[in-house]
Amino acid sequence: MDTSTNNVRVRFAPSPTGYLHVGGLRTALYNYLFAQRHQGAFVLRIEDTDRSRYVEGAVENLIETLTWAGLEYDEGPLRDGPFGPYIQSERLEIYREHANNLVREGKAYRCFCSSDRLEAMRKEQEKQKLSPKYDRLCLRLPPQVIEENIQKGISFVVRMRVPDNEIIRFHDIIRDDVEFLSDRIDDQVLLKSDGYPTYHLANVIDDHLMQITHVIRGEEWLSSTPKHILLYRFFGWNTPMFAHLPLLLNPDRSKLSKRQGDVAVEEYRAKGYLKEALVNFVALLGWNPGDEREIFSLEELAKEFSLERVGKAGAIFNIDKLNWMNFEHLRRKSDQEVLAMLKEELAHSRFREHQLSDEYLFKVIAAMRVRVSFVKDYLEKSPYFFEAPTEFDHEVVRKRWKRDTPAHMEQLVKMFRKLNKPFPTKEDFEKALYETLGNLITASPDGGLIHPTRLAISGVGVGPGLFDMLYILGRDESIRRIITAIEKIRIE
Ligand code: GLU
Repeated sequence: MDTSTNNVRVRFAPSPTGYLHVGGLRTALYNYLFAQRHQGAFVLRIEDTDRSRYVEGAVENLIETLTWAGLEYDEGPLRDGPFGPYIQSERLEIYREHANNLVREGKAYRCFCSSDRLEAMRKEQEKQKLSPKYDRLCLRLPPQVIEENIQKGISFVVRMRVPDNEIIRFHDIIRDDVEFLSDRIDDQVLLKSDGYPTYHLANVIDDHLMQITHVIRGEEWLSSTPKHILLYRFFGWNTPMFAHLPLLLNPDRSKLSKRQGDVAVEEYRAKGYLKEALVNFVALLGWNPGDEREIFSLEELAKEFSLERVGKAGAIFNIDKLNWMNFEHLRRKSDQEVLAMLKEELAHSRFREHQLSDEYLFKVIAAMRVRVSFVKDYLEKSPYFFEAPTEFDHEVVRKRWKRDTPAHMEQLVKMFRKLNKPFPTKEDFEKALYETLGNLITASPDGGLIHPTRLAISGVGVGPGLFDMLYILGRDESIRRIITAIEKIRIE
């Protein structure tokens, strides 16, 4: 099939088992980008037929997270289209009917084995080091026994009848030609005794009925694909194109897991990562643009993305790179955008009581922009812009606050008081400080006022330029802080 056709239809088909995994975000993103690139449709389908794994609120959470990331779907829950409903638990009748057809045609059979029998069989196979596989006892049941069992109300599942001794082949856009031996494939349960379909049955039926042209999903589903290929054949349907995305790995090349870091998109979101950075980052977990570029917006990705540029090798999840991308994307935001985010952050912080004008916050942004990777860094790295320091870094005090420093600071305060505007310029502060320094009879051993002044107004020894800080705080606040420091700082 030609991948440039514009009747492309793809789907993201998560199971609502809790949160959206970063791997799920990548799958959703690649499907979204592929649809955008080919002006096709991006479908969201909820695969909720495993009731034991269902988590309340997970669907809402999934939709909310996808929307946050900017991955809008064309059809799905809350956005009905021609092939709905898009939630599998609302389609049970369709699956049952299809399973019954397969039974009637001898492509599937009812299995009445009890879980005890299956368990004993599995243990025996394990003992003999055989791979677990149903022994087909029920395939051989005579029709009247089947009828009797049904009459007696013995519960059953429907299993697919996997052909013997066959090589099942299919083409994968990423992995090329793939082969599986049918003898290795279990007679997969299609319909469970509770009447719910398994993933395999529902997935194939829906991909067909929803006219999905390309199945783009994680590599962990590759081994299910031969079962799906057989089901397409049983039903007499054409198969879609397949593209199995490479695994996501920890830096030590183990499979990305909770144990080594966060895996839920919402955790990254809560930590303050920008959606632009997270989307850009996951886009490059497997795909590359063919050159050195690394920073992309969602729109740029949609123009460039192709499955042909997705590699087979596992993609390493490197958190340092994500942090760098956050810095880069934050840097690209306008002052106005940063202001809105900063106000939001402040509103949820211990500084929320302080009334700070936009004008003031714009100055803080200008001074700190190059020093922050996250919006929350404004609060963590420069809390002194939001509240006067109450403590002074011991190490800086030891190094910078000498016996004669308080006297020098008093001179500086006198000079600052002479500044006639409440918000003098940087240059005004600079002139006042150097004039004070020139007047001092005893220069402090480090020869300066810069470091003790920075300590007095911020409580710490690092930050933007001192005159930028004074300019932002203004005359009166700077004076107040220096006086407090003179009173509070004690040298041991
Ligand atoms: N429901 C499966 C999942 O949770 C979908 C796999 C597929 O895309 O076929 O990922």
